[in-house]
Amino acid sequence: MFWNKEIECINRDELETLQSQRLQFMLHRMYNNVPFYRKKFDELGIKPEDITSVKQLSQLPFTYKTDLRDNYPFGLCAVPQQQIVRLHASSGTTGKPTVVAYTQHDLDVWSEVIARSFTMAGVGNADTVQVAYGYGLFTGGLGAHYGAEKVGASVIPISGGNTKKQLQLMQDFASTVIACTPSYAAFLGETIVSEGILNNIKLRVGVFGAEPWTEEMRQYIQNTINIKAYNIYGLSEIIGPGVSMECECQNGSHIYEDHFIPEIINPETGEVLPEGELGELVFTTITKEALPLLRYRTRDLCTLTYEQCACGRTLARMGRIVGRSDDMLIVRGVNMFPSQVETVLLELSETTPHYAIIVDRENNLDTLEIHVEISEQYWTDEMKELDAMKKKITHALSNILGLNPAVKLVEPNSMQRFEGKAQRVTDRRKL
Ligand code: ADP
Ligand code: ZN
Repeated sequence: MFWNKEIECINRDELETLQSQRLQFMLHRMYNNVPFYRKKFDELGIKPEDITSVKQLSQLPFTYKTDLRDNYPFGLCAVPQQQIVRLHASSGTTGKPTVVAYTQHDLDVWSEVIARSFTMAGVGNADTVQVAYGYGLFTGGLGAHYGAEKVGASVIPISGGNTKKQLQLMQDFASTVIACTPSYAAFLGETIVSEGILNNIKLRVGVFGAEPWTEEMRQYIQNTINIKAYNIYGLSEIIGPGVSMECECQNGSHIYEDHFIPEIINPETGEVLPEGELGELVFTTITKEALPLLRYRTRDLCTLTYEQCACGRTLARMGRIVGRSDDMLIVRGVNMFPSQVETVLLELSETTPHYAIIVDRENNLDTLEIHVEISEQYWTDEMKELDAMKKKITHALSNILGLNPAVKLVEPNSMQRFEGKAQRVTDRRKL
């Protein structure tokens, strides 16, 4: 029912016409309602009516995450507050979070693209969907929730964590679909096997996203619990999860181009790259009401193909995200920046701002180790005092990161110093 063939298998010339019309409409709304964009256009001498086709997209300016932060919280909104019905925020970022707003129409579009995504994975009203993404400001939980309801599935809004309960309800309610981060899926899978309950589990499909994961990880999850695992991608700035989704061919994720126009650019020069080349993914929203974004720099690196898929869909496909063009780390689905660690260490008198972050993956769960150098006046050979210090530092770091790092205290002046750019992060995960 939510395989919208008219759109998903659309002739690409027709798609271009549709996109061009929607783009024009959106540019007018931006110019009239968002002073930030009006100023940008005026500076460049561009009028919305100058742009009549998506082919001209590259003439338009980019929007960056910093633009959202600089206009915190609602500066980029294109509708009055009365029309905003939902707010979400991006997790774990430094300083002010990135706030995103939705009108009722935006929420309808969001449910629609997630419903299409579940449909792509063969999920329908006969399914019971366990939503183990976090509910709250993070877009994962509620996003998946409304889309699963829309396809008529029975939804279990259990949110993330509490593995014991997850497995109990999974058995009691006979969940057939699990939606969560791939790392949590792997952990759930391992627990299912170690508890010896695999025979009681009815799961057949997994809808996994919100963090980078590999093909090996997919195989691992699929084999452990005997399900088909699908990749769902999205980011809150564009709408949340459901910007793209894998079909049964599992050969790239289809982007819902009737709502989001993708481009791949060279992150250094901003130049648009030819089809198939690896670069930074950029999105222009063409139906968003509350927060329309023009050429938004995702900082996610991947490739695009416009070749028709074996499933029959003509919508462009993006490859897996192979990395990010900035220094943000995603650990267990939570965003963290090295600068957050630095902030904490500078606030505490016991520590110096010399540290190392080591991210690894053990048993398919991300691990985070932070080596912290103690300042000379606080260093001691007393284990008890060191333990107390470690506890205090761990607490402060956990608070700001929303993650529990394994903290290792090291002696004064033992940490590597740098003359040029510091290299504080070691990411040993094979992503
Ligand atoms: P939050 O900041 O709250 O974690 P975001 O919406 O900002 O939520 O997260 C979006 C980012 O998560 C994307 O830009 C991308 O880097 C990553 N991401 C989401 N889904 C996937 C996926 N399927 N594969 C790889 N990375 C993903
Ligand atoms: Zn396909």
